[in-house]
Amino acid sequence: MSIRIVEDVASELLKLAATVLPGDVKEALERAYETETNDMGKAQLEAILENIRVAEERKLPICQDTGVICFYVRLGADFPVRKGIPEALTRATKRATKEIPLRPNAVDPLEERNTGDNTGRYTPYIHWELFDGDYLELTAFPKGFGSENMDKLLMMSPAKRLDGLKKFVIDTVMEANGKPCPPVIVGVAFGGFFDTVAKMAKKLLLRPLNEPNPVPELAKLEEELLKAINATGIGPMGLGGRWTALRVHVDYACRHPGAYPVAVAFQCWAARRATARIYPDGSVEYVTHEVG
Ligand code: SF4
Repeated sequence: MSIRIVEDVASELLKLAATVLPGDVKEALERAYETETNDMGKAQLEAILENIRVAEERKLPICQDTGVICFYVRLGADFPVRKGIPEALTRATKRATKEIPLRPNAVDPLEERNTGDNTGRYTPYIHWELFDGDYLELTAFPKGFGSENMDKLLMMSPAKRLDGLKKFVIDTVMEANGKPCPPVIVGVAFGGFFDTVAKMAKKLLLRPLNEPNPVPELAKLEEELLKAINATGIGPMGLGGRWTALRVHVDYACRHPGAYPVAVAFQCWAARRATARIYPDGSVEYVTHEVG
């Protein structure tokens, strides 16, 4: 198997992510539109759905901010190709930037210079995971920064526990208001370390919206937080309404007795993600999108 297949699939995933939202996100937005009771909120959702339809039909980016690119790579221990994966993802990013096209969003902060092709130091960023299997799973995650800029992390006092976590989440949503382009998806992680809690919260934004959390206590907490967030009335695009968030995802890790890290990550309504699996025989399975 040639490394070229990794580049081709990654390039296709970037195109899919930029132009077609996954079915679960579209369904959640349609459900929000049908049940929104605020006229202004309903009009915003109507415009969002029209935007999604036109982007899909014309194969154009869903939003002008095509984000900064990161990939989540799950590498099976028996997958035959290893060498050159980061380089293939960089080439795919350059290709996609030119072909789709994507807005060049990678700025080198030392030189204060836009690199022009969405690549550069640690860009695209790659999250690696090894697992016991024979395939390679690639997820393209172009992240807009209207939502990313609103993310927050708190090394909370452990005395505050879950009540403190809930207050921090709601305060963070209230402060973000319309800036992350609601209705948003909210990832909440707690426990672990300063760096891991942020990674966990962000990775939660990749979870399908229509799958229940398998841990009953977390499912209950997600429901409670979603209800409280939607009671704020911030609404679609911050203009009022019952749909401020489509879904809250929660995960946790064990914590040090003297620490309680909490991270809140936002994804805007343009929840772009695309995943595919490459098998050892060269066949490709697209997980989030219908291709063919
Ligand atoms: S937050 Fe999302 S929808 Fe809003 S401008 Fe950025 S990418 Fe676009």
